[in-house]
Amino acid sequence: MKASDLGPRLTKFRAELGKTCLIGVTKYSTLEDTLTAYEAGLYDLGENKVQDLTFKAQHFHEKDLDLIRWHFIGHLQSNKVKDLYKVPGLYAIHSVDSLKLLKELYKRESEFKGSSLKIFLQFNTSKEEEKSGFESLEELREAVDFCLSQKGSRITLHGLMTMGSIRESDFVAAAHHSFSELQGLKEVLLLSFKELLSLKLSMGMSQDYKIALSYGADYVRIGSALFGSGHS
Ligand SMILES: *Cc1c(COP(=O)(O)O)cnc(C)c1O
Repeated sequence: MKASDLGPRLTKFRAELGKTCLIGVTKYSTLEDTLTAYEAGLYDLGENKVQDLTFKAQHFHEKDLDLIRWHFIGHLQSNKVKDLYKVPGLYAIHSVDSLKLLKELYKRESEFKGSSLKIFLQFNTSKEEEKSGFESLEELREAVDFCLSQKGSRITLHGLMTMGSIRESDFVAAAHHSFSELQGLKEVLLLSFKELLSLKLSMGMSQDYKIALSYGADYVRIGSALFGSGHS
């Protein structure tokens, strides 16, 4: 990425997104490009590997770049929770994809050093085998119940997350399907859990974020369209 490209790209996204939060996904970006994003005022950054996140977050922490809000967006193994909890500036985990992981996150809460942590339950709307996530409303209800029973915790259920299809050919149709399903799940959950009134939706990546916006995305996660070398 040329640093001079980022400013105009950010301006374009901000105008399109309105109050939807832009998460800059830096998983393919160098530390230098990640710092450039921060300097351009993009404080919500996402990574999908605990090790990469640890490396970058440590650097930010040493430089006192403490406006950073790190979003973890990748598959998380239960045995990596303790490492993730050491990450300075950890703000949210978008990829809580099983009840087992959810329980582990609460169980180890004392190892989390921040003042609060937002979590999203990942739902597998596209049903692609390589994707993880909850797969039925019943599973989701059980997870929501569990979160709501954890009174006084610093870990709070913040929203639902999904990904569209990763297959290229039918991504438009697949995105409509996935994002409308997630929006529908939110509505259904709201009927039984009034506490979820402000439940957020994390959905949309470079290729399908416009579709996600039309279904009420509160967070979009953008990598290549911001940091890639090509024109998007
Ligand atoms: C990589 C990734 C993104 C960003 O993808 P782009 O297509 O580069 O915008 C968003 N969400 C998740 C979960 C990812 O792994």
